Amino acid sequence: MIKMKKIVDDVYIVKPYDPNDPASCVYMVDTKSDSGLVLIDAGMDIELIRVIEKDGFDLKEIKHCLITHGHIDHYGACHKLKEFNKDVKFYAHELDAEDNELKIRDPNIAQMYTNYKYEPVKITRKIKNDNEILKFGNYEFKCIHIPGHTPGSVAYLLETKGQRILFGGDLPGVVLNTQGGDLEAYVKSIQKLLNLNIDIMCEGHENIIDPAKKVSKFLRGYIQLNKQLNKIIENPHNPKILFELTLLTYELEFYENALDFCNYLLEIDPDNNDALKLIPEIKKHNPIEINYIKGLLA
Ligand SMILES: [Zn+2]
Repeated sequence: MIKMKKIVDDVYIVKPYDPNDPASCVYMVDTKSDSGLVLIDAGMDIELIRVIEKDGFDLKEIKHCLITHGHIDHYGACHKLKEFNKDVKFYAHELDAEDNELKIRDPNIAQMYTNYKYEPVKITRKIKNDNEILKFGNYEFKCIHIPGHTPGSVAYLLETKGQRILFGGDLPGVVLNTQGGDLEAYVKSIQKLLNLNIDIMCEGHENIIDPAKKVSKFLRGYIQLNKQLNKIIENPHNPKILFELTLLTYELEFYENALDFCNYLLEIDPDNNDALKLIPEIKKHNPIEINYIKGLLA
């Protein structure tokens, strides 16, 4: 079993990124108060949350779960949290909810988990306003509405020990206008976050990014990446645009994406000189092999 890791005092990553399991990362804040433990997202597998017991935490103390957005890979395990504490409370933005329950925003993601049975979860408190505060003990989470990836995406900002920590969900995810995303809204949302001077970003699928300089480079990079991705959807087999995308991700140090794009480019254009030259450079960084772009453009 993977051990959870401390990010700063009282703030932990419970389930880190795992390339073999596309479910989201799970974070936890120990409020050291009657508010108990606060989770940010729950992932898909409740068993992975049991890891907190190894560090002496009591599963019954999980009293709150803040959901970043309505994609099931982030909240699939929520209904099972009730096995630890039947009174656990759930928080999510009203735009990703329907009839007080979380709304399945992307059936494609749900289909990836074939043996999984979703049970609806009632949202205890719907987030309605930008900058709404959720207070648990001495810890305050500012709810920043960041539409784009989904209409009700929320990033939770926590200031502790002089550090500004952002739990961003899929804010560096893929935003395609053709798949229910909203690129224009997304760019505005990221620009809003760039003004917050975030020191540590706890991301939904890629773990933790710090310090502040790297966070802003990362966020700016995703604006560029998503603009390019939306362009490529219109010309999916254009080697020139594919190479531009490969080079962009390489320069941004998103090596997994760069390798994925380069492999795809070589599949449609095996003699592409630019790609043949770049691929050994990308591989020097030992990126994990993902196979994403092909499915996206198919
Ligand atoms: Zn998502």
